[in-house]
Order: sequence, then structure tokens, then C-alpha cells
Amino acid sequence: MGKPKVATVWLEGCSGCHMSFLDLDEKLLDILSKIDLTVTPITDFKDYEFPEVDVGIIEGGIGNQEALEIARHLRERSGILVAWGDCAVFGGINTLRNWIPREEVLRRAYIETESTVSGVLPVHPELPALLDKVRPVNEVVSVDVFVPGCPPSPEAIAYSLTEILQGRLPVLPTELIHFD
Ligand code: SF4
Repeated sequence: MGKPKVATVWLEGCSGCHMSFLDLDEKLLDILSKIDLTVTPITDFKDYEFPEVDVGIIEGGIGNQEALEIARHLRERSGILVAWGDCAVFGGINTLRNWIPREEVLRRAYIETESTVSGVLPVHPELPALLDKVRPVNEVVSVDVFVPGCPPSPEAIAYSLTEILQGRLPVLPTELIHFD
């Protein structure tokens, strides 16, 4: 049997969760030796044609149509789906816009900012439509493992992955749920 396949995506997030994963330093080599890392921003993939994977990992919330489709697609292709970080687990800082109508958010961002001259709303078939609200991942697909934190510490990420690789669904100890 080959190594467990893992895919990771970075949706409406800042990349900090993936940076925390890379912050594992030497321990990263140990984890990488035990998995087959397939689609991931770490390898600079440019499309979301996921293979079937044992573990799918999502960083970021769900704020636009593309993120929604990617989350659904990864859920379908993953044995275990993991939410990495507060944006994926709770919606995170992105939810600050949830109390403001979408049209107002777009108008403020693209037309009304003080530094904007002759702003226009961007419209293009390839631009994903903004959803009315930003959602945590488990509001759009089922999630098996939650690793909160902004970002989750490298230790929390290592613990959760190690538990999964040993066939257990991780329950993070309290000391790994906050960042010192
Ligand atoms: S949880 Fe924090 S570190 Fe992770 S994507 Fe969101 S803002 Fe960035």
C-alpha cells in the first residue's frame, strides 16, 4: 500500500495556516516522508483537479462561488476533511463583512475608497461571484477534523496530522488550541 495521499487548498485565507505548516521545520521532513502530498499551494498548482485523497485540508473560509465549488469538490474526493485555522473553522476575520450588504462591500472596495479615481466594479466571466456572507467550511460541507488557531501552531498541525496518519481522528489537547 502506498503512502496516504494528502491535498491542501487555500481558499479565503491569508496563507498563514500553510506558513505554520512550513514552520514545522525539520519535523516537516518527517511528515512529508510519510505522505504523498498531491495538490497543494506549496507545489504551486494552478488548477483544482484533485485526485482521490485520503486527507483533504482546507485553509480559509468560503466567501465566493469558486471557494464553495473547491470545498465541495475536495470534500467529494477526500476520505477525511480537515479545517485548518480560524477562517476555515469559524469564518475568521473575513466574516467582518457579513453584516454589510454585498453590493455595499463591493462599492466601498472598488469605487468609494479614498485612493480610488474613476473606480468600476470588476465584471468578468472568470471572476467568481462573491457570496452574500463568508461561511466556515462546515456550513457548506461536512468536516471531520477542526484545527483552530490563527494560525494553528505548527505543533497543533503536526499533532493532528500524526494522529490521522495513525488511524485516529484527532482531538486536540487544550494546550494546542491556543497560540502562545
Ligand atoms: S486562520 Fe489566520 S492564519 Fe489562517 S488563513 Fe485565517 S487569518 Fe490567515
